[in-house]
Amino acid sequence: MEYNAVYVTIAILLVGVALIWYVFKNVGNKKVVERDVPDRKELDSILREHVDFFDRLDEKAQQVFVDRVAYFLATTKISAEKGAQVGEVDKVLVAASATIPLFHFDKWSYENLDEVIIYPGTFDEKYDVASTDKNILGMVGDGVMNRKMILSLASLRAGFAHSSSSNTAIHEFVHLIDKADGDTDGVPDYLIPKSLVEPWLHEMHKNITLIRHDQSDIRDYAGTNPAEFLAVVSEYFFQKPTFLQQDHPDLYALLDKIYNQK
Ligand SMILES: [Zn+2]
Repeated sequence: MEYNAVYVTIAILLVGVALIWYVFKNVGNKKVVERDVPDRKELDSILREHVDFFDRLDEKAQQVFVDRVAYFLATTKISAEKGAQVGEVDKVLVAASATIPLFHFDKWSYENLDEVIIYPGTFDEKYDVASTDKNILGMVGDGVMNRKMILSLASLRAGFAHSSSSNTAIHEFVHLIDKADGDTDGVPDYLIPKSLVEPWLHEMHKNITLIRHDQSDIRDYAGTNPAEFLAVVSEYFFQKPTFLQQDHPDLYALLDKIYNQK
């Protein structure tokens, strides 16, 4: 009997190790920093309830999505600061925002990110959440804040309201993808096939000019510069793909090629 118990324990351990190996070999090789990750069933039900992108996937793709979310949560620190009350659902929303733009890339991880810091609401350039002209919803850090992202909790949640065409957290992860090649310039070198760089630059500058002349329904902020253009239209692409396809078919087709590698 005693020997049986030993064998059963060994078998359980082996299955556990195999499962962990299976999950991690499929998503990336970052170091595990958080062990308190919800189980797959819980992740699945949170994603199903809150994330439209997840709902649109077929069952097999949903399983992959859950793997990616679990991997992000295990390898990325998510911290609440300045009084933010961050719950489990909020953390899953951060992980979903990270997963969405890179979902069609088999091997990925955000090598340029260690921590996502969550503030309760908007903030200013000095990270002040009480200042009178606080209007920043999220940012990718530089200098001492390098490898960190800050998100406003209110904006994170608003982005996942079912009617929302904008999504701050996806916006910031797109900046991080854009930044990975060294230049935050609206051209994500690691994603975009070389043959698409010219057509993308053309489409981007054409639309920026239209936005600056008030001749586009795309949010004004996209006219700020190419990096903001990529981030804003990517939000639109992931949140409301059918509207973007109807109203801006050329832009949609390019984004579809960049993010879905068709
Ligand atoms: Zn931005």
